[in-house]
Amino acid sequence: MNIHEYQAKELFEKFGVATPQGKVAATAEEAGAAAREIGGPGLVVKAQVHAGGRGKGTFKNGFKGGVHVVDSAEQAQEIAGKMLGQTLVTHQTGPEGKLVSKVLIAKAVDITKEFYFAILFDRASSRHAAIASTEGGMNIEEVAEKTPEKIFKEFIHPTIGLQPYQCRKIAASLGLKGAQAGQAGKLFAALWNLYIKSDCCLVEVNPLAITTEGQVVALDAKFNFDDNALYRQKDISAMRDTTEEDPREVAASEFGLNYIGLDGNIACLVNGAGLAMSTMDIIKIHGGEPANFLDVGGGASKDQVSAAFKIILGDPNVKGILVNIFGGIMDCAIIADGIIAASKEVGLSLPLVVRLEGNNVEAGKKKLDESGLALTSAEGLTDAAQKIVAAVSSAA
Ligand code: GDP
Ligand code: MG
Repeated sequence: MNIHEYQAKELFEKFGVATPQGKVAATAEEAGAAAREIGGPGLVVKAQVHAGGRGKGTFKNGFKGGVHVVDSAEQAQEIAGKMLGQTLVTHQTGPEGKLVSKVLIAKAVDITKEFYFAILFDRASSRHAAIASTEGGMNIEEVAEKTPEKIFKEFIHPTIGLQPYQCRKIAASLGLKGAQAGQAGKLFAALWNLYIKSDCCLVEVNPLAITTEGQVVALDAKFNFDDNALYRQKDISAMRDTTEEDPREVAASEFGLNYIGLDGNIACLVNGAGLAMSTMDIIKIHGGEPANFLDVGGGASKDQVSAAFKIILGDPNVKGILVNIFGGIMDCAIIADGIIAASKEVGLSLPLVVRLEGNNVEAGKKKLDESGLALTSAEGLTDAAQKIVAAVSSAA
């Protein structure tokens, strides 16, 4: 799960991470009032969307920049008015962009240097890691690729956490000395505390700025939380903004389904993440493109299967469906019931290939045969993939 920058900054304040004072606003008037309360002259107006690259982004109406430094509350109000209700396109939003329904008004700071700092879960080493770079403010992926020597990495011990000597080491690698190194170290330690206590997988501060007064402050914030830990992070779950998420994934999460939307046209309904991955692979091997990853889990109910099927059918890109079930705990008859219920309710007109195997398979096949649904049965993975790819390409 991701959150907005203004929510991230609320967490910064709670955990003592230095960041300029700010307020969120949903209308231009609110933005003006927030700006007067914070007080000028320097203020910054920032579009709130779940995507980075806002500074260099462009609105669909031609207005340039999702981050503006302004001199007065009147200007803040005017700029907020130009952003709110508009769609911002950045290199991270995709061409469709994201609708801006809130802006953050913050006290602007004069920057002398911009750094990059992040704490993340590094899957390659199975450890938390702190990453820092002198090349802040810009595209960190590009820095990693072209000048990897400018990126510093410190692995963090899972039980003892980020140590003071490591904070000093990172500050030194950024060229910071004396009181400034101390301030930066305090900020890194506070971020680690926030990261671990809030079950984050990523906390990214880009830029981490040095102001002309010599202060070290976090100017931007990108968070990513471990979805599996959200049950014990009630305050953070409450920050979820489903309007920023893929509507298919929002619907799936309501039914406890593991669903990831993709760009292809062959939908898959599978039980078990491993089988779902193999199903996507075999579709690709036979020249097709999967429209999603969908694992209904080991013990799905008829309602869950039916919900999964409806989510698939609600995706306009889907041109065919492959159901691939290996019944272990899963009863094949329940899968059949779910497919039949959803197809009757929504009206199925797309090619459907079903491969059922395992627990109660005969009953499942019998139900599907007797349902009158126009479907193709398959034996094994290759047969299933070949049949659905053929059906979709002949329909195209
Ligand atoms: P992003 O483009 O979505 O990553 O948004 P950021 O919050 O990182 O803002 C983009 C850029 O705007 C930063 O790299 C800064 O250069 C600039 N910026 C943001 N806040 C301030 C501020 O308070 N003062 C000044 N002078 N520049 C700022
Ligand atoms: Mg940034």
